[in-house]
Amino acid sequence: MKKLALHWKILLGMLFGVILGLVMTTFEGGKELVQDWVKPFGTIFINALKLIAIPLILAALIKGVSDLKDISKLSKMGGRTIGIYISTTIIAVTIGLFLVNMVNPGYSISENTRQEMVGNYADNTTQYKETAKAQKEAGPLKALEDLVPENIFSSATSNRNMLQIIFFSLFFGIGLILIPEDKGSTVKKFFDGFNEVILKMVDLIMLAAPYGVFALLAALVVESPSIDLFKALGWYSLTVILGLLLMIIIYIVLVFVFTKKKPNFFINGISPAQLLAFSTSSSAATLPVTMERVTEHLGVEEEVASFVLPIGATINMDGTSLYQAVAAVFIAQAFGMDLSFSTQLGIIATATLASIGSAAVPGAGMVMLVGVLGYAGIPEAGLALIFAVDRPLDMSRTTVNVTGDAAVSMLVAKSIGKLGEPKVKNWDDNYTGK
Ligand code: ASP
Repeated sequence: MKKLALHWKILLGMLFGVILGLVMTTFEGGKELVQDWVKPFGTIFINALKLIAIPLILAALIKGVSDLKDISKLSKMGGRTIGIYISTTIIAVTIGLFLVNMVNPGYSISENTRQEMVGNYADNTTQYKETAKAQKEAGPLKALEDLVPENIFSSATSNRNMLQIIFFSLFFGIGLILIPEDKGSTVKKFFDGFNEVILKMVDLIMLAAPYGVFALLAALVVESPSIDLFKALGWYSLTVILGLLLMIIIYIVLVFVFTKKKPNFFINGISPAQLLAFSTSSSAATLPVTMERVTEHLGVEEEVASFVLPIGATINMDGTSLYQAVAAVFIAQAFGMDLSFSTQLGIIATATLASIGSAAVPGAGMVMLVGVLGYAGIPEAGLALIFAVDRPLDMSRTTVNVTGDAAVSMLVAKSIGKLGEPKVKNWDDNYTGK
């Protein structure tokens, strides 16, 4: 019998998870059963992925930079990567703003629904506002200051410090290029081997992916709020989803135009990472898989992927920026505010920066949204309005974030002659644990 491709297995896992969740919500105690006996497997799966994110960045970036053997190549690749990342983010925010102004989802919320939601969810959003307030109080150069840790071991203790780990790895890689080859070769070999081991660990974890997503989705369904809330926020959610779909189409077109790779090649290659991004709502947890798919299935050479993807996972969040633009205008509309054209232009800039600043973890986009609201003078109480549907939208925007990183890695690789043939032709056949 022909083996089922990995993305089908993951999709089936998701489907069975949703079915189990729905069945378990129909009787008393079902929710608790799922929380006690199924959810932990989802948590174990996500933890296993997160566990290797920092070692992966460290090994992959050091290996990637030292493979380049030349600092000028690094700055060329760096310039292109950042340039394309910022351009796609600006495109995403602009699409979000355009759609939200066309659909006007905020006008379909009645005064009563608005007050009810703001009342019900106000408590849930306090913590978001506090985090955002702390960020606002920091000076303008705080982000730059945070980039350079005073102790690499303490930064490696939290997945939120990925930019610091990236900084250290780049710095270390540059140092490695600059020392004589005979002195650096052992260190380089060590990181080469280390990187291989981590990638093999990703393969092994992916064997469990269908079961992991099954558990995650079952838990999500039993814990989700009532369907009525989704209806009230239907137009808003649809606007975000429509924008996100447009972004996926834009990536497919960009990849086709610049690399001549067909849409199904790109989608088949990246789909397991997309499904995982959807199930985990975290670009950081998905990073190991994105890395593996892009190098082994999309033909991007490792030295490009190991540079472009970790940076992308932390700063390139097109889905998040699009969502922030739509959410900001939606809240403004629901509160009866009219946003001027210049304020909307400002939203392009603030949402771009806010998405760069968002951590690659669930819900981070909503924390940073507070900054966008603050800039445009939109009431922060509006966060409570969109809180109920944030999780499904987070899942969807994370999928776009990850797809964007993969597409950009192909464009950058092509532009510097580092896009080859995929190592694995049949996209499932390295998952044998061999
Ligand atoms: N969860 C998203 C990510 O990891 C960030 C966000 O909340 O938008 O990419």
